[in-house]
Amino acid sequence: MNIQGVDRSAASARSPRLPVRTCVGCRTRDHQGDLLRVALVTGRVVPDPERGHSGRGAYVHPSRECVTAAIARKAFGRAFRTGGPLDPRDLVAFCSANDRTESWERRDDNPMSSQR
Ligand SMILES: [Zn+2]
Repeated sequence: MNIQGVDRSAASARSPRLPVRTCVGCRTRDHQGDLLRVALVTGRVVPDPERGHSGRGAYVHPSRECVTAAIARKAFGRAFRTGGPLDPRDLVAFCSANDRTESWERRDDNPMSSQR
């Protein structure tokens, strides 16, 4: 619930030509290449690193802090303009594979999801 401030100032040293997007987790603007695009596919928030999914996308830093913050704030629901429950497990799995610094929240506490 409480979101710690995340200093992303280092990103400003990157190329200024890259498009900038806003992370739905920490609300920090960052270069698109430093953010993970996520797409909504049949109610599931899925990572879209190749940006191959059409339609609405959202961007988030592929870090535990930003992904969990986005989930806690239901930021994906707002980003995708949907009020229904979203299943972020694919995104969590994707990001946790890249960020093993801390244990992630348990993923089995979503009774709405029976897929997989
Ligand atoms: Zn972020």
